[in-house]
Amino acid sequence: MHAIKPNVFSRRGFITQASTFAAFSALAEIIPLRALDESVGIDTRVSPTPLVDKGFASVRKVGIGLYATISDPSKGMTTDCNGGFLVGKDAALLIEGFFSAAGASFQMEALRSVSQVPVMAALDTHYHYDHTMGNAFYGANGVPVWAHASVAQRIVENYAPLQGADKAAVLGPFEKRVQDAKSDTERQHAQSDLNATTALFQVASSSLLALPNHPIDPTKLPISFDLGGLTAVLESYPGHSGTDIIVRVPEQNVVYTGDLLFSGMYPVAVDDKATISGWGATLAKFAAFDKDTLFVPGHGQLCGQEGISSIREVFDDIAAQAEKMFKSGVLVQEASNRYVVPDKFKKFPIFAWGFTIGPTITKLYAEWQAK
Ligand SMILES: [Zn+2]
Repeated sequence: MHAIKPNVFSRRGFITQASTFAAFSALAEIIPLRALDESVGIDTRVSPTPLVDKGFASVRKVGIGLYATISDPSKGMTTDCNGGFLVGKDAALLIEGFFSAAGASFQMEALRSVSQVPVMAALDTHYHYDHTMGNAFYGANGVPVWAHASVAQRIVENYAPLQGADKAAVLGPFEKRVQDAKSDTERQHAQSDLNATTALFQVASSSLLALPNHPIDPTKLPISFDLGGLTAVLESYPGHSGTDIIVRVPEQNVVYTGDLLFSGMYPVAVDDKATISGWGATLAKFAAFDKDTLFVPGHGQLCGQEGISSIREVFDDIAAQAEKMFKSGVLVQEASNRYVVPDKFKKFPIFAWGFTIGPTITKLYAEWQAK
């Protein structure tokens, strides 16, 4: 007979979670979330005090029936990405599946502290693990999960192979890059990629993958729906993952962007379907939204249009440095390593070099070579 010892399982669960956190915390660039900018702090839509603050995330009112969940990964990885919820008289919409089921549960609890209306759905803004690994919570609670029509397939393609995979085989190539590095800079970049990939492996291999059950055809967007005195609009834009959907509340000029906006940090552009020119066009459209638009980004602090300006400046700076090297014949790999973070962006966290700056330069080179 095999007696199940619950303490063994919970202990193991703890170790998995703790080591995932350790792997992410090892990223030198994970620095505490910055405080609200003054301009956002005095925004009358934004409540000066959060509804709830658990360290790893806080939930704040950002409009009439609108709430933003803002994560601080330096204090824990329960949610990791930002999200939020919209509450009308008849129904509510949750945004994001987060990094863990506990993260999705945390947000649901915050919703339930302000309203008991039925939940129409939870929307994954795109397929990335930090936005979807908690979907199982919604499945267990009968909440339909909406997402771009490609999300289910991309979760299966990208994360299912990591389940049961040999850790050493997955991480070996990244470890080798650290060992073979020819300079301190190259070693630091390689180490940041190894840390990020280790954490991705740990979370994707230990989570129960739960797929959205309500695919949204991007060619049918925009669509708007009424939650009861509150109208929300779903729109799809290119740039970050090829599966990105945003939620707009035009009457209040509030936009939940998912990862099409990284606020005050270097954008993650590693996805196969990320496109730098496409992303640039998307950000130009966001910049043309009302000047009083309040953005709930996928990562980083709440911001206004200045947040859009700053991510565009970051992309422009990477492009300007890369273009010089491209024109003088520097090879792409070398160019990716040579980029220098300007003083202006020294406080901008870099999730991992090979997830942000590296692929941005590689994709820019490919776009220029295709011309
Ligand atoms: Zn993402």
